Amino acid sequence: MEILWNEIDTVLLDMDGTLLDRHFDDHFWLEHVPARWAVHNGMDLTFAREHLYNLFRSQENTLNWTDLDYWSDRLKLDIPQLKKEVEHLIAIHPFVVEFLLFLKHQRKSVWLVTNAHSKTLDLKMKKTLIGPYFDGIISAHQVGLPKEDLRFWQALQSFIPYDPVRTMLAEDSETNLFTAAAYAIKYLIYVGRYSSVATPQTSQRFATIHYFQQLIPVDGGQSATI
Ligand SMILES: [Mg+2]
Repeated sequence: MEILWNEIDTVLLDMDGTLLDRHFDDHFWLEHVPARWAVHNGMDLTFAREHLYNLFRSQENTLNWTDLDYWSDRLKLDIPQLKKEVEHLIAIHPFVVEFLLFLKHQRKSVWLVTNAHSKTLDLKMKKTLIGPYFDGIISAHQVGLPKEDLRFWQALQSFIPYDPVRTMLAEDSETNLFTAAAYAIKYLIYVGRYSSVATPQTSQRFATIHYFQQLIPVDGGQSATI
């Protein structure tokens, strides 16, 4: 795919896995929460994992999935507090800041668009300090739909007026790229290296990058080929 930057006005960026290392989120939900829940309920870890993974799966593709208040209530654990216990794992992927600086320099309209809950967002913005690089931050909880929902990208227009054919979206979720494709967002980028500890993936359907450096033109030009 050839990226012609003078044909792009708006850049929509997902947070977890795309800009930030998903190792934090994967470790948190798959290891840390089951371990704490097991202790709290006097259960063994194997049972806790199986029980919680089933619960998590039951809320996939809904806003509950990322709603910390929902999980605090459902699991009877202080989820925001548990997140703080492992916040040292929150990290920005390599070359993200360089890419955000490039976009700023190019005067693009840059938005963080995330399914993350406001409490997760607060913690991550405090820890990474990337908030000021964006024209704005929109949580799916404000929109009232998750990005997995086909209606999301239309509904987003009430928050960010954007022209789909002059817009780029980068995501580590192919599902979200599919819903964006249905709304005809033109430049769809799959971030295959979503976690520092997982094997990088390649999408069969979408242009894949492993690092955002790949989108920055070399020699100050206006195009990049991926
Ligand atoms: Mg993501």
